[in-house]
Amino acid sequence: MPVTLNTSDADFEARFGEMLSAKREDSVDVNDVVAGIIRDVRHRGDVALCDLTSRFDRLDLTPATMRFSADEIAAQVAKVSVEDRAALTLAADRIRAYHERQLPEDASWTDAQGATLGWRWTAVSAAGLYVPGGQAAYPSSVLMNAIPARVAGVERLVICVPTPDGVVNPLVLLAAQLSGVTEIYRIGGAQAIAALAYGTDTIAPVDKITGPGNAYVAAAKRQVFGKVGIDMIAGPSEVLVIAEGDQHPDWLALDLLAQAEHDADAQSILITTDPALGHAVAGAVDRILPSLPRAAIAGASWRDYGTIIIARNLDEAADLSNRIAPEHLELCVDDPDTLAAKCVHAGAIFLGPHTPEAVGDYVSGPNHVLPTARSARFSSGLSVLDFLKRTTIAKLTPGALAAIGPAAMRLAASEGLQAHGASVEARIRILNERPAE
Ligand code: NAD
Repeated sequence: MPVTLNTSDADFEARFGEMLSAKREDSVDVNDVVAGIIRDVRHRGDVALCDLTSRFDRLDLTPATMRFSADEIAAQVAKVSVEDRAALTLAADRIRAYHERQLPEDASWTDAQGATLGWRWTAVSAAGLYVPGGQAAYPSSVLMNAIPARVAGVERLVICVPTPDGVVNPLVLLAAQLSGVTEIYRIGGAQAIAALAYGTDTIAPVDKITGPGNAYVAAAKRQVFGKVGIDMIAGPSEVLVIAEGDQHPDWLALDLLAQAEHDADAQSILITTDPALGHAVAGAVDRILPSLPRAAIAGASWRDYGTIIIARNLDEAADLSNRIAPEHLELCVDDPDTLAAKCVHAGAIFLGPHTPEAVGDYVSGPNHVLPTARSARFSSGLSVLDFLKRTTIAKLTPGALAAIGPAAMRLAASEGLQAHGASVEARIRILNERPAE
């Protein structure tokens, strides 16, 4: 049974606080193992990659066979059914169209003193996309990571994906092809992250690494951060559904279960203004759950972290949602637009009963790599901006330097940085010595 809370109860604040601070992740400490793997890859390069892949993925590689050849990719992609290809192509097209609108504009203007100022966006030169492959394959993750990078203009895109026992998922390779990625290595885990960050003879280093993965991958990303950029460290997934009484209990139950089946640590929360709906949804979850192939995982998540909250009204629901700052927020209410305007901390919002969160995982267009564990209070999902850097630009005329330079000299003196002030003063002195025009 999930926890049921009622905002009218005297102990609500205490119990809600407990829910907010509950740690869901089973964080196994793999830092030492991962540090050892990174050291090994830095010292022994390709030889270490081959040894570690043999040990962890039971696959014997040589430097020459680490990378998928064009023929292998073509042969694998040819195995994909027409229907799967059509679905993945639709997803890729929609994700691309959405992310193309995220491209930011450069800016340039000249101010009253004559300084021309602005900024310019440029892409990172090379990005490495980690695609998990230990337990399952994730073609949608390929699209969600590679397409924004491609739209940003990243020149070199590299994918690392483990292929345990040599088993390849053709849809992963098709997703790479649809995203325009041809440099793909069958290397996984911390060793893949180390190779992308530090490079080996076969794998040239990249500037930024994105993509989800297990505890080894997450720890490796943390450890190489600084040498390269990373996107984020994603925790277990969450959904918050806010619903009014007239919504279909089965639809809501399926949305809660869709999140729960990801992972036993996932969390599904329903906030409703109608206790009868809360009761009906709990019943529907119990009825549907046994029919799911992943019933054990979804059941554990719902039992341990599932929560139903009865709120007095939608304003109160919005306040609670802002405190939860969910990764995914579904608004199954009559006027979702008005409620959405009040929900300011959420990774992604899904408006109305016909926008189940699952469409966002695959085909609606927005990115499915989103901030978890309440980090939507201060961060956003993966976007084109993650693959861009902003360089500021300043160009002063002699007049502009004469106008604002003395203030810089003054501030430099106050900070005890003599050469700073002198570099400005030397120029202004020459300007002052020039005959007036
Ligand atoms: P993975 O590719 O992340 O990890 C497989 C690799 O882990 C292996 O290649 C191996 O190198 C390494 N490894 C395994 N055991 C090891 C050991 N004992 N010592 C050192 N290294 C070891 O694949 P996975 O294991 O299936 O995990 C994928 C994770 O990514 C899951 O937790 C899944 O939920 C998550 N995921 C998240 C999203 C998202 O968007 N947030 C999307 C897809 C997957």
